[in-house]
Amino acid sequence: MSEDLFNIIERLANVLRQEVRAEGQSLGLQPVQQEALYYLSICNRYSDTTLAVTEYLGLTKGTVSQSLKVLENKTLIYKEKDKDDLRITHLKVTEEGKLFLAETCPPKKFTEAIEQLSETKQSQAAVLMQDILKNYQKAVGRTAFGVCKNCKYNQKNEADSFYCGLTKEVLSIDDTQLICREYAT
Ligand code: SF4
Repeated sequence: MSEDLFNIIERLANVLRQEVRAEGQSLGLQPVQQEALYYLSICNRYSDTTLAVTEYLGLTKGTVSQSLKVLENKTLIYKEKDKDDLRITHLKVTEEGKLFLAETCPPKKFTEAIEQLSETKQSQAAVLMQDILKNYQKAVGRTAFGVCKNCKYNQKNEADSFYCGLTKEVLSIDDTQLICREYAT
């Protein structure tokens, strides 16, 4: 069974990669540049640095730095110094970058294919894929970069306010939907 699942996921990933690559050609972007841009649109403020992008993509610092330079030159991202620690530089997605992602990620045909499933099936598929991802990350020892709301440090304050037990900072609801380099289970 694991071989069947591997074949399905591998094929799915391959088709998706081809679709995303085709979308990126409109801006002359390489797949790695698109992946970095997408990551920066879904990560939190503790995870939007060059080092975090390098860790997330599992590539060399040189490759990632070059990709980020391209994204910056195309005004898809910009740099911003941390207001408390000037040694830290955050990488933010520009409005132009957000627009590009809204039009291309996920690719339209992927969305159409998913929408052919009932809502129940979509939810079941999301739970199953999430379980597979979680177990696989655990097995390979790469458990960082999970969604904040599921992190062991995430604590709910009253009403719609959350608190990070690691950084000791307040988190908004939107923050809890993002992925984090410090995520732990
Ligand atoms: S609660 Fe966990 S995932 Fe969320 S910001 Fe803190 S360390 Fe990161």
